[in-house]
Amino acid sequence: MECVGCTACIDACNSVMDKINRPLGLIRMASENQISKKQPFRINGKIRFYSVLLLALVGLMSFLLLSRKSIDTSISRVKGQLYQEVGKDSLSNLFQAKIINKTHSDVQYELRVEGDIPGTVKMIDTKHHTLKAESLSNATFFIAVPLDKVKARSSKIRISVYGNGQKIQTITSTFLGPFI
Ligand code: SF4
Repeated sequence: MECVGCTACIDACNSVMDKINRPLGLIRMASENQISKKQPFRINGKIRFYSVLLLALVGLMSFLLLSRKSIDTSISRVKGQLYQEVGKDSLSNLFQAKIINKTHSDVQYELRVEGDIPGTVKMIDTKHHTLKAESLSNATFFIAVPLDKVKARSSKIRISVYGNGQKIQTITSTFLGPFI
């Protein structure tokens, strides 16, 4: 059986040596040179390099944890759907959203169209305005845009996600209109 480096033998040895008043550290983590040439412990380049690397990784992990969104959303137009005419002065597209609530409490959310192209969001199922804690929800909704604001066959549209009244995320998607 191989040594798994659990260090239990170090503690056991030190405890016995302590009781009989002998020097501690007979079993210890040391390099071959430290034992054979009795060299003292030195902080060499390798230790410095791995320390800096470890600090960088801890910093990166902390940054990722602190900047983690409480609600994460992906929005896309429903595939295979073209635009729909809404009355005489608006066009709409059908979208679907996947929304993950990573918090421990329910969140009231809202989608709003913001940016150069104005529009209104019409949820197909209004019960989806509440996100259950730690859950994934799907929502399907129309975005209606005034006809005179649709200047191209495909336009970028910006949809903002609000959770409990706070803007959390803005997502860019495409809005399809007629060939112009
Ligand atoms: S007790 Fe010591 S020798 Fe045994 S596995 Fe743990 S570290 Fe290795």
